[in-house]
Amino acid sequence: MAPPSPVRDEVRLLFSTPDRHVWSIDELQQVVSASLGGADYSSVFRAVAGMQREGLVDRIDLGDGKAHFELREDHHEHIRCDSCGRVVGVPGCILENATSAVESDTGFTITSHQLLFSGICPDCSATAHN
Ligand SMILES: [Zn+2]
Ligand SMILES: [Zn+2]
Repeated sequence: MAPPSPVRDEVRLLFSTPDRHVWSIDELQQVVSASLGGADYSSVFRAVAGMQREGLVDRIDLGDGKAHFELREDHHEHIRCDSCGRVVGVPGCILENATSAVESDTGFTITSHQLLFSGICPDCSATAHN
């Protein structure tokens, strides 16, 4: 049993809030630090790494070279807003049917895929139209 850690508790809490889908360590640290009155990067990192080891969160790649993490759920794709950078989950797997076509075209056996849609989120498009 790891010793109790307020940072870890906060990180777990943040991952279960519905307002945000993916978190980078930086983003987690900012919020944890604000609510606990200070938290260093390495303890936030350790908390996330521990959750990843336990299979509670997955690391996802959004093509910006940063590590992002999300709660482990059923497979789904992501869409990112070009304007505010918000990332949300796209329910279901859109590529299920494409997989066999890609396999027969390339001869590869596909084990996973990552797909990121880009666009403008409803909030940002509402702002732009004002
Ligand atoms: Zn947006
Ligand atoms: Zn996701």
